[in-house]
Amino acid sequence: MCLYTHIIVGALAGSAAPHAALAPLLGLGSHIVLDYVPHYDFERVSSELFFGGAALLLLKLAGVLDLNAFLGGLFGALPDLENLLWKWGILPEHKKIFLTHSGIIPHGREVGPRNLILQTMLAAASVLVMIGMKGFA
Ligand SMILES: [Zn+2]
Repeated sequence: MCLYTHIIVGALAGSAAPHAALAPLLGLGSHIVLDYVPHYDFERVSSELFFGGAALLLLKLAGVLDLNAFLGGLFGALPDLENLLWKWGILPEHKKIFLTHSGIIPHGREVGPRNLILQTMLAAASVLVMIGMKGFA
């Protein structure tokens, strides 16, 4: 999935953690689930970084970026650092270690850019759920 989806869904997963120490684990878990589903990834790293930054800003502006959400979002996105290094030619494909990048858990097949509609809807729904969780806290 795109970085923005990993950040926002990871933040939601982290928000569901009963303790901040569990938020990174739930963020990493969300990355596995999202990578398993067939999806589109931006071709350009600059697009990933731009929309990833926009996702963080959205979480901040929505008032849901507490410690749990931050840790979940950070660890939800962190595994794709090795994809970034691979795209830049720094890390060879066979050196990737994250479960869905190394092939230990299958990575969802690539689909077309229309998948961005679904990813954006998932991200928006995740933000709304986080806002709702804040309202009931
Ligand atoms: Zn990934």
